Amino acid sequence: MSERVIPLVDQRIAALSAPRPTVPIPPRGHVADRLGRPLRDLRISVTDRCNFRCSYCMPKDVFTKDYPYLPHAALLTFEEITRLARLFVAHGVRKLRLTGGEPLLRKNLEDLIEQLAALRTPEGEPLDLTLTTNGTLLRRKARALRDAGLQRVTVSLDGLEDVVFRRMNDVDFPVGAVLDGIAEAQAVGLGPIKVNMVVKRGTNDDQIIPMARHFRGSGIVLRFIEYMDVGATNGWRMDEVLPSADVLARLQREFALVPLEPSAPGETAQRWGYAGPDGRHDPQLGEIGLISSVTQAFCRDCNRIRLSTEGKVYLCLFADRGYDLRSLLRGGASDEDIASALAAIWQGRSDRYSELRALLPAEERRAARRIEMSYIGG
Ligand code: SAM
Ligand code: SF4
Ligand code: SF4
Repeated sequence: MSERVIPLVDQRIAALSAPRPTVPIPPRGHVADRLGRPLRDLRISVTDRCNFRCSYCMPKDVFTKDYPYLPHAALLTFEEITRLARLFVAHGVRKLRLTGGEPLLRKNLEDLIEQLAALRTPEGEPLDLTLTTNGTLLRRKARALRDAGLQRVTVSLDGLEDVVFRRMNDVDFPVGAVLDGIAEAQAVGLGPIKVNMVVKRGTNDDQIIPMARHFRGSGIVLRFIEYMDVGATNGWRMDEVLPSADVLARLQREFALVPLEPSAPGETAQRWGYAGPDGRHDPQLGEIGLISSVTQAFCRDCNRIRLSTEGKVYLCLFADRGYDLRSLLRGGASDEDIASALAAIWQGRSDRYSELRALLPAEERRAARRIEMSYIGG
């Protein structure tokens, strides 16, 4: 019997008012939270809709055609998003990731990319601008995205075998079309490309080795992600999580792998490089990543903040409510007011859900009313 709890309360409605510090907190290019973590990575959700129904994210029986998606007027405009992003950058954000739902479903997304690509750090440098997509529209859109200033993409792909892939996306979408999208993204130079595979034990774990073989030596970094208990609708069970250590053991039976250093502070993936005949990492063969959100929490270095489609910021993927910035934007707040609010929000942060997960009684964890991944983005 599945321990499925479908929440009666819509967590999107719950919101915290953005703080309005009495003494302004001007941006200084760096702001730290209560655990000393800097703010570096802003993930922007541009839509809560998607053309897939991955069971771990938007299960079909909950996300029906009658599901109350956000109305258009509730969404932040591109100008509002860009204004917030600029203020986040002034506080130290260096990486912007567009996500969703499926971000390529948002109309004229290229216009937003153009605006974000024009932002500069206080030192005059461009930002690291990327996007996570299910790849279904990539073949058609890759060139326009690149022309608008997108640097690279991450594509989610949960299997190579068509039957498995269709089962994972639950809308019978063929894998070939996503592979074509990845090829097009690579051809137009949207790289280095990363491919994310969520591994569910017993559902797609037989795809680990075929996926590794397919992307080895392709210039694309394949990353295996542990199935997480995000949201409250996917019926998550620990026995469906395949720990990264097991993924690694399976890979090591097939390939020679050597550990690599993290590429940046706060990097979520443990990197392993394919070794050449001399036993050393062969860059031509490339690398894989393991994202162990469940079995090896990386909250200690978490420098990410998430902006929802309707302008709430969330301090953790597992937060139950966000701070409403849209009221500030639409209520005539000045840049100084908004920058102060952002700093105060980050300074008050102590979230570290993944580190605490194991300590929470199962009942409490299941009953938690968390926002959905499709609403907040990955
Ligand atoms: N639709 C886009 C996509 O799938 O790439 C962007 C949004 S999706 C919510 C972002 C990422 O979250 C995807 O890589 C997806 O596989 C991952 N994700 C969603 N639900 C997850 C879960 N329960 N556990 C682990 N990863 C999950
Ligand atoms: Fe859609 Fe991405 Fe969620 Fe799959 S993981 S349902 S593609 S938003
Ligand atoms: Fe960051 Fe929250 Fe994930 Fe920990 S659980 S890594 S704090 S988003």
